[in-house]
Amino acid sequence: MSTSIFSRIITREIPADIVHDDEHALAFRDIHPVAPFHVLVIPKRPLANVGEATADDGALLGHLLGVCRTVAEAAGHTDFRVVTNSGAAAGQTVFHLHFHVLAGRPLTWPPG
Ligand code: 5GP
Repeated sequence: MSTSIFSRIITREIPADIVHDDEHALAFRDIHPVAPFHVLVIPKRPLANVGEATADDGALLGHLLGVCRTVAEAAGHTDFRVVTNSGAAAGQTVFHLHFHVLAGRPLTWPPG
């Protein structure tokens, strides 16, 4: 996987508003939020997207989803949406796995 902008956020080469940092995951506010609460949860280990994940990544994926819940609840949001885009045709623009955590306004379904 080639280096993405998120790798440079992990190494602190690029600043970000970080809300969670642990051994395996980092969470920071999206630079272009689409909801009052819009945080990206990423693995520190390079992994392009869910489509590239294998069975060996199961524990990591579970951990990342737990972080999604942790950051939402820490901000007072019991209701939240978790979205991940896997592949360009699905809307992925940064090819380092990330879960969008959205909250703070009514969220309709399905999305566009
Ligand atoms: P995707 O379209 O790949 O699912 O989502 C990528 C997200 O990363 C977008 O919501 C975009 O606003 C966000 N993003 C892109 N570059 C940066 C950056 O440098 N800093 C932060 N905090 N978010 C970024």
